[in-house]
Amino acid sequence: MDLSVLNEQQRKAAENLNGPLLILAGAGSGKTRTMTYRIANLLEHGVPAWQILALTFTNKAARQMKDRIASLIGEIEAEDMWIGTFHSVCVRILRRDIEKIGYQRSFTIYDDDDQLRVIKDWLKQLKIDDKTLSARDVRNVISDSKNKLLTADEWFRSSEKAYRDQQIHDVYVRYEQTLKDNNALDFDDLLMKTLQLLMDHPPVLQYYQQRFRYVNVDEYQDTNMAQYEIVRLLTAKSHQLCVVGDDDQSIYGWRGADIRNILNFEQDFPDCTVIKLEQNYRSTATILDAANQVIAHNEGRKEKALWTENSLGEKIKLYTAGDEREEAAWISGQIKQMHNQGWPYAEMAILYRLHAQSRILEEMLVRAGIPYRVYGGTRFYERKEIKDILAYLRVLVNPADTVSLKRIINTPRRSIGDTTVSQLEEQALEEGVPMFSVLTNPPEELSSRARRCVSDFARLLFDLMSRRDSTPMDEFIETVINETGLINQMEKETEEAYITRKENMMEFIGAAKEYLDRAEDEDKTLQAFLENVALITDLDRQEDVPQFVTLMTLHSAKGLEYDAVFMAGMEENVFPSYRAINEDDRLEEERRLAYVGITRARKQLYLSLARSRTIFNQVSYNRPSRFVSEIPDRLIEDVWALSRQHFGEEPAPLRKPHNREPRYNDFGTPGMGQLNIPGVTKGFVPSQASKLSGSAMMRMYDPGDRVMHRKFGEGRVVSIEKAGTDARITIDFIAYGRKEFSLAIAPIFKLEE
Ligand code: ATP
Ligand code: MG
Repeated sequence: MDLSVLNEQQRKAAENLNGPLLILAGAGSGKTRTMTYRIANLLEHGVPAWQILALTFTNKAARQMKDRIASLIGEIEAEDMWIGTFHSVCVRILRRDIEKIGYQRSFTIYDDDDQLRVIKDWLKQLKIDDKTLSARDVRNVISDSKNKLLTADEWFRSSEKAYRDQQIHDVYVRYEQTLKDNNALDFDDLLMKTLQLLMDHPPVLQYYQQRFRYVNVDEYQDTNMAQYEIVRLLTAKSHQLCVVGDDDQSIYGWRGADIRNILNFEQDFPDCTVIKLEQNYRSTATILDAANQVIAHNEGRKEKALWTENSLGEKIKLYTAGDEREEAAWISGQIKQMHNQGWPYAEMAILYRLHAQSRILEEMLVRAGIPYRVYGGTRFYERKEIKDILAYLRVLVNPADTVSLKRIINTPRRSIGDTTVSQLEEQALEEGVPMFSVLTNPPEELSSRARRCVSDFARLLFDLMSRRDSTPMDEFIETVINETGLINQMEKETEEAYITRKENMMEFIGAAKEYLDRAEDEDKTLQAFLENVALITDLDRQEDVPQFVTLMTLHSAKGLEYDAVFMAGMEENVFPSYRAINEDDRLEEERRLAYVGITRARKQLYLSLARSRTIFNQVSYNRPSRFVSEIPDRLIEDVWALSRQHFGEEPAPLRKPHNREPRYNDFGTPGMGQLNIPGVTKGFVPSQASKLSGSAMMRMYDPGDRVMHRKFGEGRVVSIEKAGTDARITIDFIAYGRKEFSLAIAPIFKLEE
């Protein structure tokens, strides 16, 4: 294999096949690439593929790595290798041996939504008011506690034991029992239970210790305690561990990731080799400079000096919008223009701090006719109709899954009301069996009608179950959709909603087909498919749609790269988040997030902010983000100030040095800002314009021309009509729709196509 494509340090790492190895380096320095080459090199040195385990941050990254390795050393061997996220690898381990810790192999994986359902149910039964203790809060405590490897009781003992803690504990204990009864695991359990299995069952641990002789972990800085322990156990004998990461990119502390895992690696493995990579291959020198300057403001970090041979590139463009709507219009205008100049949509991404920011961005992209995909918003698999199908399929695979059963028992409506469901539940409780088991023999107390409805439902499920293993999976799913009546539930639904729902169901069947096409034979089962769906994150759907602009939160962007990156909402209280502003630790995590965002860009970086922002239905006026002020002026081109000059106004100082005291509304009164798009041709200011005659001015514009308005931003001329000595011009704005003006005084100018 040709290692000469690597630089000296990278090559050293790829050739170091023995003992613990830490690659600690900044963004875009080739960590992931080096790890990939090192694995290929292991294979080339005769290590069997099945002895290698590689853990990546997303499933998508796993696939990329697998493809890359295959292209380096050949397809066949790479297939036996376990490359995946911690969660997917844990599921594989659990599927084999989870019976040893008291679950069945057909376990279901519960997502956020399922978790909340269970918790809400218990809050209600325990008569705890959702307003004093929300289901979300409880979920967060449970997740946090599991990330720290604490059981419900251990968590309670470590809490302040206040009344509220007591309540949480009550729900927590019951939540755990419900999941157990349903033969279900939540996401945190996937790690916890794997750890438990490995710790309590030495033969299992030995098996995996012998099997995975070489363990590799990407993005090691974001491992949590459970992940750390799993890695330690697996490599305790072999010491063949290679981890790569960047302490400056640790951004999941809020979810239990522990940056110390990477900082203490040298203590954990005293015989380790440490390799640092310092050359950045990804970004222009300007972008890298900005990233270095921003991250230098963090105190708790290992000093690193990233440099690049890449050219200076263009300056970072900063744009100040009047409000979030205008910001979005500017971004979409910019994207459109770049696309016209030949930049592929797939090479552009808009990153933001909050999911909620995507709505207005989407609206403007739609208006500008730009194809895009949002990752991490309402996910496809979280849509109601899809969750309904999934619930049916889960019950058909794991009848003990009562949470899913309750979801579908009356969906679509089949006259099984809440009272009936409660009675079924009681009966099940009495008999000590899952609710599914009492469906065939419903309690006597039920009305004969209710009994009949329940029996019909039971017959439907049994009938489907009997066909489950003899029908190809995609056909079976179609059968389920048709025979359960899911496809036809038209009550109170608009035609449009009906069509969308139907399309989504079809897409789901398509996803199943696609899965069958690429799955290995032993995985062509409904159960394996459901597992795959449960572990899918939106990032994984990305590569399927290459001609789209990507929208996602900064947190999802780790490890990825794009030619052009837009970071929207660069305002105090938005980014950094208002929750982090007064806590040094959290503020540093926000700054690392800024560093991650900036370093995603290869060629061009755009920063934008809005002087007033309506978000969560509230208006706020925030100062520019401190992360903008932390980038030196010499690296920034302030396009807003330039556009003011264009309209004949004095440029106002925009980027005031950061001041730690919160001061609001630095911009004076809120209002519309101005837009600027480079490539202006026949620009003029209104004072000049008014000197021209109406007819002379009319000749300057044609319907279809691209124009810029001082307040409303970019649009296209719809029509121009003479009106006395003046003329009226109608413009269709990207952000504001159609408006009409007097041509003599309208503050507009013409843009290049
Ligand atoms: P991040 O910290 O964002 O995860 P990373 O350190 O993992 O980044 P990679 O994604 O591996 O970096 O590499 C960044 C980019 O630089 C990729 O496009 C990669 O192909 C390229 N690259 C890395 N090393 C080299 C090299 N020696 N020669 C040419 N290109 C390289
Ligand atoms: Mg990487």
